[in-house]
Amino acid sequence: MTRIERAAMRSGRSAEEIQLLAVSKTRSADELRTLAALGIRRFGENYLQEALDKQAQLADLALEWHFIGPIQSNKTRPIAEHFDWVHSVDRLKLAQRLSAQRPTGLPPLNLCLQVNISGEASKSGVTLEQLPELAHAVATLPNLRLRGLMCIPAPAVGENAQREPLHSMAEAKASLETSGLPLDTLSMGMSSDLEAAILEGATLVRIGTALFGPRGPRG
Ligand SMILES: *Cc1c(COP(=O)(O)O)cnc(C)c1O
Repeated sequence: MTRIERAAMRSGRSAEEIQLLAVSKTRSADELRTLAALGIRRFGENYLQEALDKQAQLADLALEWHFIGPIQSNKTRPIAEHFDWVHSVDRLKLAQRLSAQRPTGLPPLNLCLQVNISGEASKSGVTLEQLPELAHAVATLPNLRLRGLMCIPAPAVGENAQREPLHSMAEAKASLETSGLPLDTLSMGMSSDLEAAILEGATLVRIGTALFGPRGPRG
């Protein structure tokens, strides 16, 4: 957390502008409970069943749950029912299903579009070229609130190399805002590049190992 404060200071931003999402994949409900007792309220999960199990065990706590993993289209209903945010939407069909399956009575599901910012063939995410069309289509759907963009850049060594794709993300968000979409979220920055992300305008950093320690082989 001091890393966030120091990076915020370096970039002339207030640390309050930057939200911490604790990425808790592979961690036990007890580990989440320990962090919750320290005041951390936002948790990010990648694997649906694992997340649902932990949510049930922690139902006594008022936590905010973010789904950040790959989405299979036959799994959208439990995501729409059990999460506050989804960061990993990269096609219209997923957004349409989440919108249709969001229970009435719950607030709109907060959504980020995942951008394949490093152009890796093997990675999920919409391309920068296809992003405007997708964003404008998603913004018209009921029961969803399009908040911004998310990315997982290819690993890069050194802050300057890390900043390059993150800068493109900030530009893409600004361009969508100019085209009329009211976005407030840039979900970028992980344990290894959170400083670069904050320098480039991240509003939410997704931190796993720097909070919990190294993950096992599955993570
Ligand atoms: C695992 C994961 C993170 C956290 O990564 P760390 O390097 O452990 O901080 C962030 N975002 C996504 C999408 C992840 O899958």
